[in-house]
Amino acid sequence: MKLDNFPKDIKSFLIPKPKPYLYYKCLGCLQKFSIAKLLYVCPECGKVMLLQNKKFEDLKNIDGKKWQKIFDYRKMLNIPALKGIYRYHEFLGPDIPLDSIVYLGEAHTPIVEANKRLQEKVGIKFFYKNDGQNPSASFKDRGMASALSYIKFLIKNNFISDVIAICASTGDTSASAALYASYLQSDIKSVVLLPHKKVTSQQLLQPLGSGTKVFEIPGVFDDCMKIVEKLSEKYSVVLLNSKNAWRILGQESYSYEIAQDFEYNMKNKVVFVPIGNAGNISAIINGFIKFFQANIINALPKIIGVQSEHANPVFQYYLEPDKNKRQFKPITVKPSVAQAAMIGNPVSMLRVISLVELYNKTAGAKKIFFIQTTEQSIMDWQLQANRNGHIACTQGGESLAGLVEALKQGIISNNETAILNATAHAIKFSMFQELYYKKKFSKEYNIKSNSKFINYPKLLMPHNLDKIPSQSKPLSKKDFKIFVNQISSKIAKELNLRTNP
Ligand SMILES: *Cc1c(COP(=O)(O)O)cnc(C)c1O
Ligand SMILES: [Zn+2]
Repeated sequence: MKLDNFPKDIKSFLIPKPKPYLYYKCLGCLQKFSIAKLLYVCPECGKVMLLQNKKFEDLKNIDGKKWQKIFDYRKMLNIPALKGIYRYHEFLGPDIPLDSIVYLGEAHTPIVEANKRLQEKVGIKFFYKNDGQNPSASFKDRGMASALSYIKFLIKNNFISDVIAICASTGDTSASAALYASYLQSDIKSVVLLPHKKVTSQQLLQPLGSGTKVFEIPGVFDDCMKIVEKLSEKYSVVLLNSKNAWRILGQESYSYEIAQDFEYNMKNKVVFVPIGNAGNISAIINGFIKFFQANIINALPKIIGVQSEHANPVFQYYLEPDKNKRQFKPITVKPSVAQAAMIGNPVSMLRVISLVELYNKTAGAKKIFFIQTTEQSIMDWQLQANRNGHIACTQGGESLAGLVEALKQGIISNNETAILNATAHAIKFSMFQELYYKKKFSKEYNIKSNSKFINYPKLLMPHNLDKIPSQSKPLSKKDFKIFVNQISSKIAKELNLRTNP
């Protein structure tokens, strides 16, 4: 819709003007730093940071109902810069001018209600939010749109030039970084580090296809991360991992999108998130807090963080009920089908610790829980979800396995509504489906294939193996007719088809 056609009381709010409000806040020593310089960790104490708005209180001068209207009308604008995460400009990046915004189609992923059959099986009303329908097919694109828009802003203002952007990845961060950097090429070159043989072939092909320099490193993600940290300390590179607070800021859009899609009614809602580096859950927690404080949503939803028992450092940390006795211990991960979350030393742990406390305090009740699932349940639920019309990756299967477990433990009840993050597209992780179907999981995964969920193709051949259609030697008309008749009879027999009367 054209700007002129919007109601008068809303028109002047639709196109946001940039304001210099954001600053970095260190979660260790609590010091504040200007965003004029790119920082990843606190220059004083080395801890992670979050971006904060020094004028956040001013956002409350606009009524929550009015904000709802602004976001809803903004959705009808045909301005690319405001179609993605910056629909929520005032909450996400007030400093970023529209001409610096990079938009590749992220941040309006569909929320799809599970069919009756699957809802009955699980025992609760639930939806998947399909983050696989982002441009690089995972949720990481929201954070990347934010980080790259900020970098473009710095380049435009001549604060930096000839950027070499670098990240370590369990697969999806690199796919996303490579995609956005290739869009901004000539100004930005990107380099990614992947743990050798620990990403799927689709995830490896993505950054290669974007023309990015890919280094494979022996070890797991946590080892790659150490190398990237070393590089960013010693050399002039831009770090695109979720240590970078701009990534976290952009990913808050996930919460805003959910709020908007449920008409800002967050009562009795439960949001399930798989946890790896704990960046996504940090962003989601912070997003809901901000919308709640500005009266845009009427309640804080429950948030359930899910981890596999093969990569569960956050779950383990919260096993201790007394917060003064909790102690974070990095763990050594075991192979997991939720491979994108296979992280033993989450970069955002400090963010989680501080935001969980703030969330529960703001809600006046314990609203965030952590759950662990078995590898078996992750696979079984992923396959069942996808047999009912979903496109969940293994981490999306983990969300559903977590939902089943949360119901079993009584953390949630069936009068609530669950929203599960399918964090990437199923096809990125189809190798695990294949291992399951072929019963080829190595022992460490601890997964047995349930024949109920197995599916594989059946090859049909004609009786005469010399009479097979081929490009180089076409069949005669008569032979081809025989071929078609034989194969269709075989299929009819397999399917017990009745003949037409
Ligand atoms: C990165 C990723 C995760 C883990 O998210 P964190 O922010 O690292 O906790 C989960 N699923 C998929 C598909 C991912 O790419
Ligand atoms: Zn500090």
